[in-house]
Amino acid sequence: MSTLNEIKAQLTERQKELESRVTAINDDVSHKNQPLSSDWAEQAVERENEEVLEALGNASLDEIQNIKHALQRIEKGTYFDCEACGDAINLERLKLLVSTDLCTQCAEEAESRRQF
Ligand SMILES: [Zn+2]
Repeated sequence: MSTLNEIKAQLTERQKELESRVTAINDDVSHKNQPLSSDWAEQAVERENEEVLEALGNASLDEIQNIKHALQRIEKGTYFDCEACGDAINLERLKLLVSTDLCTQCAEEAESRRQF
């Protein structure tokens, strides 16, 4: 069970990290700390940076969702079960991808469906 506690701690830690990143990005995009430059060229560059930041923020939000989902799975006691086929997910896989909810086989199938 200590493994599960370690994974849970890892997930919680990662969630905090991502949440503070999202907060920092939101502050940045809303120009909380510095007003928009008055120079047009500068503004264009700033807008581009904002788009990159927003994409980063969205990716972080997605990951937060995955982590929350994984934490719920731990609470329910279904963390080690694949959500697609119900088989046990390999522990080595879970250690690498702590927020995954698919076993290697189902993940590969999902991956190949996305490609074709
Ligand atoms: Zn599966």
